[in-house]
Amino acid sequence: MKQYDYLVVGAGLYGAVFAQQAKQSGKSVLVIDKRPHIGGNVYTKPVEDINVHVYGAHIFHTNDKEVWEYVNRFAEFNRFTNSPVANYRGELYSLPFNMYTFNQMWGVVTPEEAEAKIQAQKQEAGITEPKNLEEQAISLVGKDIYEKLIKGYTEKQWGRPCSELPAFIIKRLPVRFTFDNNYFNARYQGIPVGGYTKLVENLLDGIEVRLSVDYLDEKAEWDALADKVVYTGAIDRYFEYRLGVLEYRSVRFETEVLDTPNFQGNAAVNYTDAETPYTRIIEHKWFEFGTQPKTVVSREYSSEWKVGDEPYYPVNNEKNNALYAQYKALAENEPNVIFGGRLGEYKYYDMDTVIAASLALCKKEGVR
Ligand code: UDP
Repeated sequence: MKQYDYLVVGAGLYGAVFAQQAKQSGKSVLVIDKRPHIGGNVYTKPVEDINVHVYGAHIFHTNDKEVWEYVNRFAEFNRFTNSPVANYRGELYSLPFNMYTFNQMWGVVTPEEAEAKIQAQKQEAGITEPKNLEEQAISLVGKDIYEKLIKGYTEKQWGRPCSELPAFIIKRLPVRFTFDNNYFNARYQGIPVGGYTKLVENLLDGIEVRLSVDYLDEKAEWDALADKVVYTGAIDRYFEYRLGVLEYRSVRFETEVLDTPNFQGNAAVNYTDAETPYTRIIEHKWFEFGTQPKTVVSREYSSEWKVGDEPYYPVNNEKNNALYAQYKALAENEPNVIFGGRLGEYKYYDMDTVIAASLALCKKEGVR
């Protein structure tokens, strides 16, 4: 008889949701995390009474009613709607790509004019079947928007030419022929009132959590404690990188408190030119309609990840996906260990899909 039914490695959303469901169905659970705090990359902390998204901006959005109802059991969500502004060398454009953007770019007024403009630029580029992000972007929005709003930003974010990136990344963004600046095509959207840390705290309520401990440093000891392990860390690190290293993009934030109530008038301003070294500036207070006298802003710098850095975005190109498939085969033969989450599955998950994946695991494990 082991002490716990489950050891959950990683107190991010995937792990916390699994732990919550397992506990609720009467299982004993221990959650550990190598960081000194819970929440994984959704962790927020108050600075000047403003909830700062420490590992990058997170805006909850979903079409999944079950997920929405689930998270609403643990937090109240405000009515925040993401509408980032793009700043290209001082010119401002609305995002995502919609009638406001087309009007700002070309002066067109009707959807018909906008569609004609895009169609002409697409034809000029001669793209029939888009094979990469560059071709996908041009065929969705034309060359002008690609060059001013996509190319520089994407190449800074991913550190690779758009012609070598997978097309699916750009398909995350809507293209609309309506005047609608909502970045997401989602039925439900908002920010948990009081921050994400509180949401994860509520998920983990009554569950034993140990922080600042690295599972892989003393794997055998931890394994001895539980019947099963839910591992949400990086899959290649679990196997000591024996097949090679999966590539990630990392992000570095320069965060500062400014003695002004309003720095940029919006939660997110993307700097879409190639010269500005950061990709975007986040002004955290606007996620919660803050009225504080000061403001906190974070400049986001993207970099190639190396062993020891914080991994953020899996680079899901063919090479890495093939390597991941090999690791996955190893993982499937690992007795009593379940791999999940953005790092465990090497997948560019959104918060709602990671929660859905965790709930699906709960069903499979019979704890839901
Ligand atoms: N993107 C872009 N210009 C922008 C914003 C996004 O070209 O101003 C592209 C870029 O390739 C990025 C992708 O859209 O990687 C997805 O952006 P999203 O905002 O979904 O990324 P996340 O918020 O996950 O960093």
